[in-house]
Amino acid sequence: MTWIALILAVLLLWFASLCKVFLESMSSSKSAFLNDGASSRRRNVLVVIAHPDDESMFFAPVINYLTSRHHNVHILCMSTGNADGMGSVRKEELQLASVVLKDGFGNVWNWDLLASIINDETRTHSIDLIITFDNYGISGHCNHCDVHQGVRKLMHDALGGRHLEAWEIISPNIVRKYIGPVDIWLSIMLSRLDKDGLSHCLLNLDLRKSYAAMAQHSSQWVWFRKFFVTFSSCTYVSTLKKIAV
Ligand SMILES: [Zn+2]
Repeated sequence: MTWIALILAVLLLWFASLCKVFLESMSSSKSAFLNDGASSRRRNVLVVIAHPDDESMFFAPVINYLTSRHHNVHILCMSTGNADGMGSVRKEELQLASVVLKDGFGNVWNWDLLASIINDETRTHSIDLIITFDNYGISGHCNHCDVHQGVRKLMHDALGGRHLEAWEIISPNIVRKYIGPVDIWLSIMLSRLDKDGLSHCLLNLDLRKSYAAMAQHSSQWVWFRKFFVTFSSCTYVSTLKKIAV
């Protein structure tokens, strides 16, 4: 009897969380991220990822938020793949990065080289804001961590008076990572505790688009990725934190 009550409670919580995500998608998001009121200017944003499906698996809430606010979103993928992800993935950037980088566990990428490639892209596209992984890289994949270090190195070394800011997606712990939409409550609460405005919680404003985007990676749209996209909190919410330079 206790088990039945527990299962019903979990299902109810899951349903309430999904309702919250859908309600948020129907109203305009109240997040303060890049929101200066009516006069909000369009930003040129570069999302820096390691693999061609990262944008759909880990960055969908952020990308959907940015596009809903009409910011210009560019995606720089640092390794090869056979699909080009959501609309703004640039094949020439993929080719540029893939000449020098090979992805995979154990292949540590050169942070100086990453910083140099990212720097070139920010100058080419007048980027003023970068979004990438944090130093754990959500899944712990070494290349995700390398990408973070590349951005950090760029921010540390090459700014030279340029206006460029960088934000990272905070990795949820293993429990929060697999409780699906239920994690939105914790993410909202934790970001509200931050009074400095350096942390923002973004709910996914278009879940259907996230599934559709991931399905474009047909070679990788296998059962365990479908499981991940359904049960991972990364599908439903992202918390961004500004990278201190
Ligand atoms: Zn990856």
